[in-house]
Amino acid sequence: MLYQRSSQLFAEAEKVIPGGVNSPVRAFKSVGGTPIFVKEAKGAYLYDEDGNRLVDYINSWGPMILGHAYEPVVNAVIERAKKGTSFGTPTALETEIAQLAVSMVPNIDKIRFVNSGTEACMSAVRLARGYTKREKIIKFAGCYHGHSDSFLIQAGSGAVTFGSPNSPGVTQGTAKDTLLATYNDLQNVKDLFEANKDEIAAIIIEPVAGNMGCIPPAEGFLQALREVCDANGALLIFDEVMTGFRLAKGGAQELFGVKADIVTFGKVIGGGLPVGAFAGRNEIMNYLAPVGPVYQAGTLSGNPLAMAAGLEMLKALNSDEAIFSRLEEKTAYLEKGIREKLTEANLAYTINRRGSMISVHFDANPVTDFKTAANGDNETFKKFFHGLLKEGVYIAPSAYETWFITDALTYEDLDFTINAIEKVAKEL
Ligand SMILES: *Cc1c(COP(=O)(O)O)cnc(C)c1O
Repeated sequence: MLYQRSSQLFAEAEKVIPGGVNSPVRAFKSVGGTPIFVKEAKGAYLYDEDGNRLVDYINSWGPMILGHAYEPVVNAVIERAKKGTSFGTPTALETEIAQLAVSMVPNIDKIRFVNSGTEACMSAVRLARGYTKREKIIKFAGCYHGHSDSFLIQAGSGAVTFGSPNSPGVTQGTAKDTLLATYNDLQNVKDLFEANKDEIAAIIIEPVAGNMGCIPPAEGFLQALREVCDANGALLIFDEVMTGFRLAKGGAQELFGVKADIVTFGKVIGGGLPVGAFAGRNEIMNYLAPVGPVYQAGTLSGNPLAMAAGLEMLKALNSDEAIFSRLEEKTAYLEKGIREKLTEANLAYTINRRGSMISVHFDANPVTDFKTAANGDNETFKKFFHGLLKEGVYIAPSAYETWFITDALTYEDLDFTINAIEKVAKEL
């Protein structure tokens, strides 16, 4: 495959955009080479500026769960745009999507819409702090909750420096209120509560981690966190920006039968437009302005185009009883195929999967937390990535990312992918 035009476009972009991209992982830094510039996409495929067709396993990092340019979403956006793109006043559309979201997700009475997953998580933590009148939060190493200051402490694939910020510009003052725990390590969490009595406002967690590869919670781990929070007067925040409306209609709360106090959303809920949201029961959500004292706002929050897209997406997911099991079956089929091919090629690997989230780690040991995720052989991953790209299969350009399966993928696409993996694995 040729990437002449993508390379040229990247060189031009680098002159006017830092690193040529508007979000770092797009720059191919961890795999090398230059990013693919996409011209258009439809269903399971991306079409790049050089005329290549790629089977897409990133899907805009999750949102396009029904495939690219899904017609009901596209049509809804076009129709809404003709009537005006932003008013800064309430619209009936916002109530309609809120009603639908509240009906689909367990344990939530009210939902507030924002413009990104970052905003949702940042606001959820402020709300938890305001509600509990406490300042510290617990986050898990390798979990990503957006790029707001409090969360840039071992946030996924960033630099590994214990207890200090991942990024210059995050102050020590902010960093000290974020306590770090190891994913799937309950004792670690209990020790933090013991050492910080009555100071911890909330635990925030990706109920299935997706930003250090896919790492499912150990049996009973989420329930145990629920109990620790209850015993200590802290709130449990499920960051379902990735898992919400993907693993089940009601997300991880439904899947694992564990109640969270605040749930955050993004990605799928916006149908490919910039949307985030956070939700909880009345008692907590009524702490938000204008009813309560915790301030949170947004000029474009609840934007009609974004709400129209999100509404069509949620309607489609809500009306298709088989959607989540179909996604799971496709992903399980892919997993089986990858296992066969990597085993035949005698490679050391681990595959983690939950529902339609899956990741391949080039290490034979179990991957259960950030440390074990970091053990993967990045040189092998790089070759795997570029080999697949050459075969027309686009996976995330980082070993720390989950692949997202879309319903637009056919079994033919999956076989095409498995054949590509066979070919690439032989050369690793
Ligand atoms: C993507 C993601 C975010 C951040 O969402 P943005 O829309 O990129 O700001 C937060 N939490 C999780 C779990 C995510 O996967």
